[in-house]
Amino acid sequence: MEKISLSITVSGLVQGVGFRPFIYRKAVQSGLTGWVQNTNANVRIEVTGSREKLDNFISSIERDVPSAAAIEKIIYSEIKLVAYTSFSIRESNNVSDDVTEISPDIAVCIDCLEDMKQQPHREAYAFINCTNCGPRFTIIENLPFDRSETTMKSFEMCPVCRKEYDNVTDRRFHAQPIACNNCGPEYEIITRNGSSSKDIFSIIRQVADIIGSGGVVLIKGLGGMHLACDAFNDAAINKLRLAKKRDGKPFAVMFRNIDLLRMYTEIDSASEQSLISWKRPIVLLEKKETSPLPPLSHILNSGLNLIGAMLPYMPFHHLLMESLCTPAIVLTSGNFHNEPIIIDNELARKQFLSSTDALVLHNREIYNRTDDSVTRIIAGKERIFRRSRGYVPAPIITGLNTEGILAFGAELTNCFCAGKGNKAYLSQHIGDLQGFGTTEFYEETISRFIKLFRIKPSLVAVDMHPDYISSKSGFSYNSLPVVMVQHHHAHIASCMAEHALDEKVIGVAFDGTGFGTDGNIWGSEFLVCDMIDFERITHFDYIPLPGGDTAIEEPWRIAVSWLYKVFGKSFTSFNLPLLKVAGKERYEIIIRMIDKKINSPLTSGAGRLFDAVASLADIVHFSSFQSEGPMRLESLVRSGIKGSYPYSSRQTICLDELIKAIVDDVLKGEEKVTIATKLHNTIILIIFDIVSAIRKDKGINKVVLSGGVFQNKYLLEGITDLLTKNDFELYSNRSVPANDGGIALGQLAVASKRREMKCV
Ligand code: ZN
Ligand code: ZN
Ligand code: FE
Repeated sequence: MEKISLSITVSGLVQGVGFRPFIYRKAVQSGLTGWVQNTNANVRIEVTGSREKLDNFISSIERDVPSAAAIEKIIYSEIKLVAYTSFSIRESNNVSDDVTEISPDIAVCIDCLEDMKQQPHREAYAFINCTNCGPRFTIIENLPFDRSETTMKSFEMCPVCRKEYDNVTDRRFHAQPIACNNCGPEYEIITRNGSSSKDIFSIIRQVADIIGSGGVVLIKGLGGMHLACDAFNDAAINKLRLAKKRDGKPFAVMFRNIDLLRMYTEIDSASEQSLISWKRPIVLLEKKETSPLPPLSHILNSGLNLIGAMLPYMPFHHLLMESLCTPAIVLTSGNFHNEPIIIDNELARKQFLSSTDALVLHNREIYNRTDDSVTRIIAGKERIFRRSRGYVPAPIITGLNTEGILAFGAELTNCFCAGKGNKAYLSQHIGDLQGFGTTEFYEETISRFIKLFRIKPSLVAVDMHPDYISSKSGFSYNSLPVVMVQHHHAHIASCMAEHALDEKVIGVAFDGTGFGTDGNIWGSEFLVCDMIDFERITHFDYIPLPGGDTAIEEPWRIAVSWLYKVFGKSFTSFNLPLLKVAGKERYEIIIRMIDKKINSPLTSGAGRLFDAVASLADIVHFSSFQSEGPMRLESLVRSGIKGSYPYSSRQTICLDELIKAIVDDVLKGEEKVTIATKLHNTIILIIFDIVSAIRKDKGINKVVLSGGVFQNKYLLEGITDLLTKNDFELYSNRSVPANDGGIALGQLAVASKRREMKCV
């Protein structure tokens, strides 16, 4: 049969995921000759054989692609016949400024877990990996993904590993982080009393003993340090909170396996998929109301009805969980408030040796810091709340020309975003740009993304807020032209970019805080917008925020502000719990601050309404973590409860009647669950009423929801239901966070469109 030769390029997530050996095996099985090669831009193949065999070869590439790979495009063309004698894998080659995708880190696979029991040189080897699993983004310093460009470069392969690495039929063929007990990285335990050991069996035994007796251990992970303790032991959890300097946040829990997890939480098939995927995020799940087993400590999630649950993803986690008596441990990031997760061994020693019982460190350096990602299933779909390990650095493919755009993101929950071709590389979760370490991490990661993805920045996008550290960084970045994007417009644009919408839509952006064009703090915005600009249609009435950021930490101040707006000074005679908690002296100061307009910026933030209600209903007066009030209210919602509160809408949306009715309910002694549910029902109705009016007026049927408030499951599901029933086309964030972690994608999208329209 007549032979021909083809040149094939495959782009997408095709490196570090066993793609070349997969191609090699396919070619050899089909009796084809030629070669396959990684370049920094894609995978190249030249192959010779009969036309029929080549057709089958190409279709089988798409059909049988390895699980962690994702093909974006296969392009092929016939070239002059080359008579190869065999099929080979060629050395990697750096060809241009284009880049291939870099794989996120992949949870250890079942085959490797089996090898840990079978292979003599990998018995209990806690860094085992293969082409289907293991560290990727966290260890890569540069492209292409070869060992010499990773933090594994300091470990020389032993002859046994080398043989596997070179053998195309081996599952570890060209597995860049390949290693074994004889040649690879190793763990070490250092206890508080100074003893240390590098024997894995001894380490596991000691950690199990410490956790079993109520101790706290710091464990170095894939993207940073974790703190661990028994999830059933109140005293241990309190000790862990102390080590983290009294962080009030709910902690994530790692369960030994999915069957145990199922006994404590409500899991549907979508959350199970998210939990067991190779990305292994923390998944927010509802606690089981009744379980025959002893309950998890109620202080680990600060009394909320949600648990951030995850399954083991590193070989070490599997070894440890199997040796523990407890079925679940707290596993939370090793860092302090506002500071990034620690990756450095020395820093971990300095900061945690005295406040924990032992440190378990290892000598594989973490190059790119990542936190555990967080997801939740809402309306049947996975939503990403924190996008980091397992998800980053996979790009978002947009319909826009993103080339050279650098979007600096928001101030809190920051991620930045870098554009290349039509792709948007959203960074891993950076955090709150208020800690010094976080700002350093931010700047370092921006330069690393530019280098790694070979981006030539030519346009900068920032939030309009003049005081955001991110905006300042953007303005001072290489004196490039700067596009300023309003915060809520960016939220909506992030969701539009995700869904490739490029037209006029109704945008509903609900969050806590975002700088508005009138200098006030916005956050309950009904916009009519496209990618270029927006018109603000309506919003909640402004109220003063006495003390600014302090009021966000002390929701009782916002409640007082509402009471004063609605009732004047007469509220001081009400028998409300919050007034007793605050005390006469303090609330009178608040009244004076409002009267004299001292540090009392105006806000329309929906999050602030939730804060106020949380305090009015005697749920949270002082926040011990971000969004505590809204989270507790959501946690109280009961879907059987109907009813809502009144409101009115003219130029803006007036909520005075709502506040009056809530105060009545509180004074009447109405149950908190009823108040919380009625508040949620009201928000759903307001959104429905307003978007219906806008549709009538403007003839727009597409509604885009974004902003942190839409991480609220009851709200998003309620609105989705109501709007869909009324024939709206509804879009909400899925692959980037609805919170400020997704803002940078929106900034980048707006900047791209403005550049295209020459409005830059
Ligand atoms: Zn594996
Ligand atoms: Zn070895
Ligand atoms: Fe926001």
